Amino acid sequence: MTQERKNIAIIGSGLVGSLLAIYLKRYGHRITVFDRRPDIRNIEFSGRSINLAMSNRGWNALKAVGLEEEIKTIAIPLDKRAMHVIGKPEYYQKYGKDGEAIWSISRGVLNRKMIDLAEKNGVDFRFEEKVWDIDLPEAKIFTGESEKGEWKEYEYDLVFGCDGAFSRVRHKMQRRSRFDYSQDFIDVGYKELTIPANSDGTHKLDKNSFHIWPRGKFMFIAMPNLDGSFTCTLFMPFEGDVSFESIKTKQDAVLFFTTYFPNVKNEIENLTEDFFKNPTSAMVTMKCYPWTYWNKVALVGDSAHAVVPFYGQGMNAGFEDIYVLDQIIQELGNDWEKIFQTYQERRKPNADAIAELSYRNFVEMSSKTADANFLLQKKIEKHFASKYPDKWVPAYSRVTFSLRPYAEALAEGDAQEAIMKEVMKMPDLDKKWDSREVEEKILELLG
Ligand SMILES: Cc1cc2nc3c(=O)[nH]c(=O)nc-3n(C[C@H](O)[C@H](O)[C@H](O)COP(=O)(O)OP(=O)(O)OC[C@H]3O[C@@H](n4cnc5c(N)ncnc54)[C@H](O)[C@@H]3O)c2cc1C
Repeated sequence: MTQERKNIAIIGSGLVGSLLAIYLKRYGHRITVFDRRPDIRNIEFSGRSINLAMSNRGWNALKAVGLEEEIKTIAIPLDKRAMHVIGKPEYYQKYGKDGEAIWSISRGVLNRKMIDLAEKNGVDFRFEEKVWDIDLPEAKIFTGESEKGEWKEYEYDLVFGCDGAFSRVRHKMQRRSRFDYSQDFIDVGYKELTIPANSDGTHKLDKNSFHIWPRGKFMFIAMPNLDGSFTCTLFMPFEGDVSFESIKTKQDAVLFFTTYFPNVKNEIENLTEDFFKNPTSAMVTMKCYPWTYWNKVALVGDSAHAVVPFYGQGMNAGFEDIYVLDQIIQELGNDWEKIFQTYQERRKPNADAIAELSYRNFVEMSSKTADANFLLQKKIEKHFASKYPDKWVPAYSRVTFSLRPYAEALAEGDAQEAIMKEVMKMPDLDKKWDSREVEEKILELLG
């Protein structure tokens, strides 16, 4: 469908803003992207910055604009989890069927690439230009060096707020009547740490695995980078017995890593140094509605829906927003009021669903992994799913490897949970969890 040429501002040159710019430029619009930060392409980083798991939804959005193959060259496929459980040798859990994988990709490397691609297609970027205010009815934005200083004013036909979880654009919408907004921080924080490469540039752990050290209330994960290093994340309560607050000295950190992560003890020096050098960050679920202001302004990505990272879906969901918005543009053409209305109605239930699923995964990881009943239930589900893959698709697979709506994954997950509640009432289940009797019970409940 052809589109009337518009003058469009995108606030934020992060992953979502730069991909949206690439999508909209295809229609011949004039696109300017503003970012308060310097150009990420000119910032020194070792390629070891935070990394993300890209899954099918993210790839689907990149494929639609011909970028999937190019971006895959800077990503590493992970087809399994490598579990590091105390008292057991390292073991592997395949993610899905053969060929199914999530991909480890550096956020910084990906962001640079996307900005390059957008610029090549004729998108203008204005870095170090922070948006302080926005006039929603007129689609005017105001930028400047400080809140109190002098501002520049720009007027556009459309403005997209891709300015992240603490969005200024949304902040302006929040001041309007009947705007719903909620923000919930969890009591767990995270810290980025690094395991460097071997001296010959190879990886110290299996390169094609997502490494997990589950420790009940806290957890350590590692994802590979192209340069042989691993970016690791330590998730841990801010306060309490074992917490960020409780590790105050170098000795505390050394003791912590040697006690809980014995198989990374050769990396202690590095981990300890990073521990005190790198910040401890918070995680938030943010929900809001509406996401659009009439036919002028729309929120996309984290500015509309920030989720805790325990499903690895934040960026994937943001990319899917863009894919869906584009499909609606193709259906509706130039009617931006209707495009925006349809976009928010279609996406909001799915954004809420992935927020819920991500939060539940956090609760599962932090409080249920030591519960014998929970572990037995998971064992039964896994066994049944492997025998009847068409009848029992785990929620993780629906979210990660399918393109079906997140809301459907949540609903199916709830239905499976209701079935398992009945199954778990069966007597002597720990002795017969893999029996024909249990299978028949599940089949009967599935109807
Ligand atoms: C620990 C952690 C792990 C994660 N792991 C995964 C994962 O494995 N998979 C996954 O899919 N997602 C993951 N995510 C989520 C993912 O990082 C985010 O969903 C994604 O980066 C959001 O992109 P965005 O472009 O919407 O926002 P952001 O990346 O926040 O970008 C916003 C941009 O807007 C700019 N900006 C902000 N305010 C202004 C302003 N006033 N004026 C101008 N510019 C402004 C900022 O400088 C920034 O460049 C993870 C998140 C965390 C915290």
